[in-house]
Amino acid sequence: MLTIRKRLGMADMERLLDKAAKLIRRARAVVALTGAGISVESGIPAFRGTQGLWEKYDPMEYAHIDALRAHPEKVWRMLRELQQIVEGARPNPAHLSLARMEQLGFLRAIITQNIDHLHQDAGSRYVIEFHGSGHKLACLSCGERIPRHLVDLSSIPPRCFCGGILKPDVVFFGEPIPWRALIQAQEESKNCDVMLVVGTSAVVAPACDMPYLAKDRGARIIEVNTEETPLTRTITDIFLQGSAGTILPKLVAILETMV
Ligand code: NAD
Repeated sequence: MLTIRKRLGMADMERLLDKAAKLIRRARAVVALTGAGISVESGIPAFRGTQGLWEKYDPMEYAHIDALRAHPEKVWRMLRELQQIVEGARPNPAHLSLARMEQLGFLRAIITQNIDHLHQDAGSRYVIEFHGSGHKLACLSCGERIPRHLVDLSSIPPRCFCGGILKPDVVFFGEPIPWRALIQAQEESKNCDVMLVVGTSAVVAPACDMPYLAKDRGARIIEVNTEETPLTRTITDIFLQGSAGTILPKLVAILETMV
């Protein structure tokens, strides 16, 4: 496994970035799997690591569907705060780099665990939202979907026209993955020959199965993360350690010269 560590010199980092770029250049299909870490530099805290929001609210306690059903007002206080952060966020250089890779023909699809819409805002076109989207709310009673901007959050929990409680149209712990996203993600993972795994702790199933599906079919795994993950010493081929907003623009700068 090839690793960029902070203690490695600039030349080593450039050599590894160059190897990663060559793998991508030669690949038939490159797919990215992204997680909360890619949006940290846009100001949205990830679940794991030292984070303001999640020091106040334990995601395991607040992000389960049973918690929302049992204590909708309490859970919505956290959701409203998160919603405000997400709605104020803009794509950062990491999102923009993936959009540019797609434009250059070097990236086929993004499978994202994020619900923040920042890949689409950056210009990426083929984005599989594995955990749903914060842009809509869904009714717990009748299943109606309502665009977020049509719902007033000044009194919580917000309610549907039918009187049911609304939730963000995202996957809570205890809920299934939307079947279309799951099937698309599995297909893309099986059919890619390079998977670029960015800013995910790779512990939330079944999203964390995607790199293994890819690897099983012979794909090479390039991982970008500030920290090691369970993938790093098992299936990762090239570990680019650092922030996504620094590493991905460098990778794209090399790819621009290979067009
Ligand atoms: P996670 O919080 O479990 O892990 C984040 C990972 O990103 C960690 O491995 C961390 O080392 C890494 N990281 C942090 N800053 C980084 C940076 N600047 N560059 C590169 N890597 C960085 O996130 P997860 O694996 O996506 O799983 C958590 C779940 O929470 C997912 O389901 C996700 O949908 C959800 N979530 C989403 C958002 C969002 O939409 N932005 C935010 C928080 C949580």
